[in-house]
Amino acid sequence: MHKKAKKLKVLFASSEVYPFAKSGGLADVAYALPKALSKKFEINVILPLYASIDIDKYYIKPVRPSFSVEMGGKSYDILLHKCRHEGIIYIFVQSERISEKEYFYGPPDQGYADNAVRFALFCRAIIEVLKEDSSYTILHCNDWQTALAPLLVKEDLSLHIKTVFTIHNLAYQGIFDRDTLDEIGLSPGYFHSEALEYYGAINLMKAGIVYADSITTVSSEYAKEIQTQVFGCGLEGLLVYHRTKLHGILNGIDTEFFDPQSDPLISHHYTPSDLDGKKSDKKAFLKYSGLKGAQKPLFVFIGRFTEQKGISLLIEILEQTASLEINIAILGEGEIRYRTQLEQIVSLNSHIHLFFGYDEETSHRLYAAGDFLLMPSFFEPCGLTQMIAMRYGTVPIVHNVGGLKQTVHSYKIFDPGAKHGFGITYSEQKPEVLLDALLKAVKLYKTPFLETLNLHNMRCDFSWTKSVEAYTALYHNLEQL
Ligand code: ADP
Repeated sequence: MHKKAKKLKVLFASSEVYPFAKSGGLADVAYALPKALSKKFEINVILPLYASIDIDKYYIKPVRPSFSVEMGGKSYDILLHKCRHEGIIYIFVQSERISEKEYFYGPPDQGYADNAVRFALFCRAIIEVLKEDSSYTILHCNDWQTALAPLLVKEDLSLHIKTVFTIHNLAYQGIFDRDTLDEIGLSPGYFHSEALEYYGAINLMKAGIVYADSITTVSSEYAKEIQTQVFGCGLEGLLVYHRTKLHGILNGIDTEFFDPQSDPLISHHYTPSDLDGKKSDKKAFLKYSGLKGAQKPLFVFIGRFTEQKGISLLIEILEQTASLEINIAILGEGEIRYRTQLEQIVSLNSHIHLFFGYDEETSHRLYAAGDFLLMPSFFEPCGLTQMIAMRYGTVPIVHNVGGLKQTVHSYKIFDPGAKHGFGITYSEQKPEVLLDALLKAVKLYKTPFLETLNLHNMRCDFSWTKSVEAYTALYHNLEQL
């Protein structure tokens, strides 16, 4: 009899993971991807233990005595905790600098001044975990908060781990002043342009790009875009240089969690063959929010209030939508200036409702109630929101970039046999073009074709299946190196 092949062991590191800590799509990915990969790999997930994580709810327990990490002439105590959640083992890194602050990264509009130290400690704790358990083969890091770990793996000659670094958003790079290099315990030798130096400062994202064995990003469109000046955020040259190890692997969504047939957060369930429940969800939502007119199309926006998400463009056109016989519901949090502008507009326009804050339940109710999702992002590495919307039969209106370009094609070239979704797409990021897309939606709403689009989109496969195949091949290739 054949002995069953031992599964490769992977440590997946992320600064946020749903349901413990989430501020955006990274948390969804760090929850769903390891779960999907766990059928083929033994995979543990490591994340910081923030003050807001509910230790009792998830039975998170310390696993061994604390240890100290020496960094930049200082000693920091670290305590590791563990829990098992839905079959996955999660390792939490507790340290005063990480865990005794209110926010993950800093208050709205700001990052904590010592974020380099906080996340360097997280990376050094990752190294400790790898050293303690020699059965790990792959370390998979995500975004700048974990980018130092591939460098530390290379520095430690006792480790023979292969590293993957995934870029979820190149706009956030972890840039700190030059002195930080010493504070995070790195030699001045890293202060050159082919390592961490970046216009006289240090850039932690560069550590991931330069030292990881493989780089991935979350759509093949974004993989191409970040090698150009428009989307490369100053790192395009470095990414072109390292392009042979750069791969685009499209994110998926957890199709069990986001399922209008069974979602416990929505009041009425529905299927691709019967959308009655969706109509009831819309009515229930309108009643709840005070918006009037179930016969009018409902546009929803769900996302962070940052420049990236195109909220400024949306704000520019909101007042002009008063004459359109539509309703708009906006859910998000982020920069105060956008909140203030939105609150002002909403106070004068009864067809717009604003939910300020982060609220999973409201987001699900909006996906279910909406007729159209507004996603006017300036750039979008992958975007989960449009895929979730399509799963709930809400037609996305998107700027034709990055992952949006890959997942949403124009309804004008509808093909019932296509594997991707369809929506309203536009290419010029201008207020009048976005308004024109809204007008197209209003017209589309009056036709039976809207239901055809919805049914097609709801049946599309946005699951992790294809990405898991791609990551599996990548991990196995790295193992062979
Ligand atoms: P990003 O990661 O850039 O924020 P994505 O589209 O990849 O954007 O993922 C956003 C995720 O966060 C989706 O699951 C979306 O539903 C969720 N989300 C965004 N803002 C909020 C909010 N204010 N309340 C609840 N969920 C939100």
